[in-house]
Amino acid sequence: MATKLPATSHEPLLWDYATSKESTDIVEIDSKYGLFIDGKFRAPKSRKYFPTINPANEEHLADVAEAGPRDIDLAVSAARRAYTDVWGPMSGAERAKYLFRIARMVQERSRELAVLETLDGGKPIKEARDVDLPLVAGHFFYYAGWADKLEYAFPGVSPKPLGVAGQVIPWNFPLMMLAWKVAPALATGNTVVLKPAETTSLTALMFAQIASEAGLPPGVLNIVTGAGRTGAAIVGHDDVDKIAFTGSTAVGKMIQSQLAGTSKRLTLELGGKAAHVVFEDAPLDQAIEGVINGIFFNQGHVCCAGSRLLVQENIHDRFVDKLKRRLATLRVGDPLDKNTDVGAINSRAQLERITELVEVGLSEGAEMFQPDCVLPDRGFYFRPTLFTNVAQSHRIAQEEIFGPVLSILSFRTPDEAVEKANNTPYGLSAGVWTSKGSRILWMADRLKAGVVWANTYNKFDPTSPFGGYKESGFGREGGRHGLLAYMDWGEG
Ligand code: NAD
Repeated sequence: MATKLPATSHEPLLWDYATSKESTDIVEIDSKYGLFIDGKFRAPKSRKYFPTINPANEEHLADVAEAGPRDIDLAVSAARRAYTDVWGPMSGAERAKYLFRIARMVQERSRELAVLETLDGGKPIKEARDVDLPLVAGHFFYYAGWADKLEYAFPGVSPKPLGVAGQVIPWNFPLMMLAWKVAPALATGNTVVLKPAETTSLTALMFAQIASEAGLPPGVLNIVTGAGRTGAAIVGHDDVDKIAFTGSTAVGKMIQSQLAGTSKRLTLELGGKAAHVVFEDAPLDQAIEGVINGIFFNQGHVCCAGSRLLVQENIHDRFVDKLKRRLATLRVGDPLDKNTDVGAINSRAQLERITELVEVGLSEGAEMFQPDCVLPDRGFYFRPTLFTNVAQSHRIAQEEIFGPVLSILSFRTPDEAVEKANNTPYGLSAGVWTSKGSRILWMADRLKAGVVWANTYNKFDPTSPFGGYKESGFGREGGRHGLLAYMDWGEG
């Protein structure tokens, strides 16, 4: 049962908001989508299609092709031809022109893409519009800039492309994950076969149209849709030179063992269970905003979500009280409403997984708090949730929930904070709140995480590398480091 917000003399003033719904008129969704292979949309050889729905109201949006092994064969052959005949031999300056054109077209069509991202995936329109789409365009602009400067990126060696890159991405940032993978691969002269996640294929298919309108030569980018079997067919294809995978640690491990003993290059961007550490000297009101953003941004469907909050013991009760108050002001509901802070859970399966782990948390003895918000009747929604009295051994402190659920623990000393923060098989990200610069550096040295944010959280930038340690994977995306995943070295 949800706990009610405790009544106090300084209850927050809860404002009513008039609905401000983004129009969907700008987007045209076809009833059926084929596979984008060799520059054209074509019916799948498998003859199979599957539905994609709007998780905010469970309405059917379109049927999407399921690519089988013969379709993957066609896509890889098209990518190989394009690599050998056109894209591989093309100068970096010429490749850059295509990438700049794509970046500009993404900007021009960003409202349309943002609305489609929200419809197909459930994320709040304000996040799709203000975070995802600017970063998508930013990644293409950034890597377009590198395409003709690769020999300066790594002086003394002659960088060469790898060939055909197979890329498999998840559903939480569909177009952004595409940009993180496609932009550096194309900038470095590789060609691509990419599979979006099965619940969020539509923006990748719209992106294929954009690439085609930008004049990208046929076969340079191929988008094949489908679920795990389609992904496995790309990973296992003999003529693919490199696999870039973003998704769960379980599937990442399977892919790593599938590729062991082959010459294929591999990068893995996997799960996380990030510690968000708040010290007694932190600016508390700003830290509250950081913690809220850290776990409720994108419904908590974020690999680097700050899902384990570690608060210094002497401020624990005050901080949790403030947090509950702030939670009660979050607006949960229709993702197309521009006021919405927490939108729809991406799928029924994900909602069931969140619900199951929350029940485990209760049965293990943690104490739950949820605000009293009204959820829509249809669609997949979960109330923003806090757990206190969480022990290190609880599953909700160890496993990635990938939903709007925060587990709160306390610590007394900086050493204890580090020990608790690092007590996880993951190592993707972490956050530190303190007013002491020296403490930030001390913590950053000791936290085993690919990214450590200080007095902020969830900041992404195309120029900055992102990636994990331990079971969060290996390889970096973004920045100059992101080029490395797609290049080989010749003699200098
Ligand atoms: P998932 O592993 O179930 O699926 C990811 C993708 O892999 C999907 O496209 C899916 O169809 C495909 N897939 C499934 N089985 C496959 C197989 N056997 N072979 C090849 N492909 C296969 O993960 P998900 O539920 O879609 O995404 C959530 C996970 O992604 C979370 O664990 C999250 O932390 C992680 N993630 C990590 C990052 C990062 O940068 N580290 C970014 C976003 C998401």
